Amino acid sequence: MKVIDIINRSQSTLFTFELLPPLKGASFSEIEETIEPLLPYSPSYINVTYHRPEVVLREQPSGLLERRIIKKRPGTVGVSAGIKYKYGIDVVPHLICGGFTREETEDALIDLNFLGIDNVLALRGDAEKGAHGFMPEPGGNKLAVDLVKQVNDLNHGKYVDPESTNIQKTDFCIGVAGYPEKHSEAPNLETDLMSLKAKVDAGADYIVTQMFFNNAKFFEFVEQCRAIGITVPIIPGLKPISLKKHLTMLPQIFHIDLPQDLVDAVNRCKNNEEVRQVGVEWGIAQSKELKAAGVPVLHYYTMGKPDNIEKIVKEVF
Ligand code: FAD
Repeated sequence: MKVIDIINRSQSTLFTFELLPPLKGASFSEIEETIEPLLPYSPSYINVTYHRPEVVLREQPSGLLERRIIKKRPGTVGVSAGIKYKYGIDVVPHLICGGFTREETEDALIDLNFLGIDNVLALRGDAEKGAHGFMPEPGGNKLAVDLVKQVNDLNHGKYVDPESTNIQKTDFCIGVAGYPEKHSEAPNLETDLMSLKAKVDAGADYIVTQMFFNNAKFFEFVEQCRAIGITVPIIPGLKPISLKKHLTMLPQIFHIDLPQDLVDAVNRCKNNEEVRQVGVEWGIAQSKELKAAGVPVLHYYTMGKPDNIEKIVKEVF
């Protein structure tokens, strides 16, 4: 089922989470270990992230450069189908612009359609390691809005090759990312919000936010979205802090602020077990307030270890 239909049919806040495909070589059992402890809380759907292959250049004895593509976490499409058919739960595979030509994106969408998957989260993806800024694949989409347009076009039977005949329309529900504390590359929140509106105008059905630790920022973001005419559901993304090093890592990687109270509580912890507990308590408080405010869904970032998410949802749902 489409995420938008799941949301529209529900009278109360729903629960979902996102997981990563296992590291190359690992088995589907890793996915099962993440999902099964959370099944009793009836996730409405599950997101599966996409990871851009890394390109490594190695000098050969001949002096020539060999270009090797290393896929660390392949399998988004397969993992999504595995979850859908093993557990009968709807899935939202993530798709990114980076590393794909438009033809390859179309092939991935056709595969997802054959697999009976109704949703995608359309993202640009981050810049390659060491690169100065994001570089699209030659012939690939440059921004998430271009990917949204491509999915929407396919939903209307419009393929990359304009001469394609025997057209089969897809019917994907499209989610996109939003940033309550603005995306790192945007000059200010206002222009970032206009980029978000462009994604919605291009056909996105709902928004999932980057993680945030201060609900006031989310509420303000929703107000600002509504003020510029974004009417689709906005789903808060939550990640419980679980390691002391998150205090520096999360702001650096995701360009988000951590409230001083949370920083102080984590700094008082003697070990990461205590940090994990602080993260759970903060997550419970955030989730309860968001649920009371009537958000459509609470979306948790699991990072593969579900015990902290389990403790939170046990208290909240
Ligand atoms: P875009 O919406 O394309 O925005 C990128 C930048 O371009 C922004 O600064 C925006 O303001 C700007 N911009 C957009 N349109 C215009 C325009 N017309 N003119 C000028 N500037 C413009 N990454 C992965 O690799 N795999 C994942 O599975 C993944 N999952 C994610 C899930 C969620 C919920 C979130 C929030 C992020 C996820 N990401 C993932 C990270 C995401 O790929 C990065 O944050 C990326 O840097 C931006 O992606 P986007 O889709 O928001 O890009």
